[in-house]
Amino acid sequence: MIIKLATFLLPILYALVLWRFSIWRLRRELDERSVPLREPRLESVIGQMANTLALPEIPVNLYEVAEVNGLAAPDGRIFLTRGMIEAFRADQISAAEIASVIAHELGHVALGHTRRRMIDFTGHSVIRLALASVLGRILPGVGAHLAGFLSSLLAARLSRRDEYAADAWATALLIKAGIGADGQKSLLAKLEQPAANRAGPAAWLMSHPRAGERIAAIEANERRWRPGEPTAPTV
Ligand SMILES: [Zn+2]
Repeated sequence: MIIKLATFLLPILYALVLWRFSIWRLRRELDERSVPLREPRLESVIGQMANTLALPEIPVNLYEVAEVNGLAAPDGRIFLTRGMIEAFRADQISAAEIASVIAHELGHVALGHTRRRMIDFTGHSVIRLALASVLGRILPGVGAHLAGFLSSLLAARLSRRDEYAADAWATALLIKAGIGADGQKSLLAKLEQPAANRAGPAAWLMSHPRAGERIAAIEANERRWRPGEPTAPTV
C-alpha cells in the first residue's frame, strides 16, 4: 500500500519541485540580464496605452538576448529583447509594431496566462508522468514516448488558445489607445518572412499559431470593434 501510494505521489512531488525550480531559474535569468527600457521614441505609444488603461505608467524591461522577442514573466513584468529594440532602432520595426508586442504581452498578463502557464507546466508534467506510469505498464518501451506526445499535444492546444486571446485583447487596447491594429498585423507578416529576420530568429512566432491565421482573426475583431462603436470591448 505504501509503495503504491509512493509511486503515485512521487511523480506529483517531482513535478512540483520542477515547477518551483523553473520559476526561480526564469526569474534569476531575467533579473540578471535585463534593465528598465529607456527608449524616448517609444514613450508616446507606451504613454497612450497607459492612459487608456488608466495606469500611471507601463514599465517595460530590456532583456539582453539577440532574438526578436517579447515576453511576459510569471510575475507580470513585460520584457522586449535587445534584438527587437535593435530592429526598431534600425527602422525595421515601427513604434506601432513594438506597441502591438507590448499590448499582446499585457494581454497574457491581464488574462492570467502567465500564472496559468506555470500551472499548465505542472499540470503538463503531472499528466505526462501519470500517463507514462500507466502506459509504461501496458506498452513497455513505447508507453513513455506516447505519454510525452499526448501531453505535448495538450499543452500546444492550450497555448494556441492563449495566443488568440492575447491578440484580441491587444487589438482592443490598440484601437482604444488610437494606435490601431495595423502594426499588429504588419509585424506578424514581417516576422514570418525569413528575409526580415536579420536581427535574429523570430522566436516570438515559434510558440505561436501561423501569422496568416492570426492576422485574419485580428481583422475580424477590427471590423467588430471600430473606434466609437458601442460594441467596442472594455479593456
Ligand atoms: Zn503570446
